[in-house]
Amino acid sequence: TRAVQAPVKLLNDGNKIPILALGTYGSREDISRMRQAVYWAIEAGYRHIDTAELYNNEVEIGQGIADAIQKGLVTREELFITTKLWNNHHARDQVIPALQDSLKRLGLNYVDLYLIHSPIAQKADGTFENIDYLDTWRGMEDAKKLGLAKSIGVSNFNSEQIGRILKSCEIKPAVNQIEVNPTLTQEQLISYCRSVDIDVMSYSPFGFMVSRRKENKLSPRFDDPELMKIAEKYGKTTSQVVLRYLIDRGTIPIPKSTNKERIIQNIDIFDFSLTEDEIANINKFNKNIRVVDIVEWRDHPYYPFNKA
Ligand code: NDP
Repeated sequence: TRAVQAPVKLLNDGNKIPILALGTYGSREDISRMRQAVYWAIEAGYRHIDTAELYNNEVEIGQGIADAIQKGLVTREELFITTKLWNNHHARDQVIPALQDSLKRLGLNYVDLYLIHSPIAQKADGTFENIDYLDTWRGMEDAKKLGLAKSIGVSNFNSEQIGRILKSCEIKPAVNQIEVNPTLTQEQLISYCRSVDIDVMSYSPFGFMVSRRKENKLSPRFDDPELMKIAEKYGKTTSQVVLRYLIDRGTIPIPKSTNKERIIQNIDIFDFSLTEDEIANINKFNKNIRVVDIVEWRDHPYYPFNKA
């Protein structure tokens, strides 16, 4: 295996983040493949893994990390591990215990990045809970001060919600992890985040190129002629072109794969870059349609997405 490493960049708190991460959300079958997938990824050069309490795979990911460290592929310090606080621990004093539970499952004593998974607080049974995400953010600051998370950030927050945090926080969010792909290009939110020095992690980077449960016929697909033309020019696949597009837009893509060849392919994108015109042409696929939209949250005052 030829290992390829993603470059790192500086977050607003001075910590370094590798600009591509392995995504890990998936089915029960995916969970059973995750220990091996994480090991393959580290072997291929990945240093950043993205997980969450919600994904129910922190144990398997921790095992993959332990295997790689034990085999001498990497040290803990060379890895960057991101996990997320789920909606049912939004009270300030629930944040540190929830993080400690994640750490126990991962077999780690700190994570590199801890994110509030969404602005919406829920009880264990899924009903809404009336907790302001500003309180949750104080708990995140507590976690950083204790060194349990080196960096802290948010996910699925809109610009108004980030602005509210910025007005009252002691520590700024370092990252906002949001959906970005050719059919949801997020020009406004990305430029807002850039203007306040918050890095964007792009989730569901392949958008509707991958068959998703509902909509199946949105362009681009993996065999899109426009993307194929760009791919041929650089001797890459259309998947690699889309990941490079997200890098060239200044974001940190999180492609998920549990397949060894695709894991290797998805990080092999640091020997070319797209032109301004190619980026602009991919932006034209934008349809403002989301892979991830939680319909039951639409009437919540903190629903973060456009309702249109
Ligand atoms: P992705 O856009 O990463 O797509 C994953 C799918 O693409 C899988 O079916 C995978 O199959 C397939 N795939 C991977 N690489 C290739 C390739 N090179 N060519 C063709 N197919 C490929 O979707 P996700 O929704 O999983 O998003 C990525 C990650 O982002 C998640 O895993 C999670 O870590 C994070 N995320 C965060 C959210 C949040 O709320 N913060 C929400 C959603 C995702 P296979 O495994 O067989 O290769």
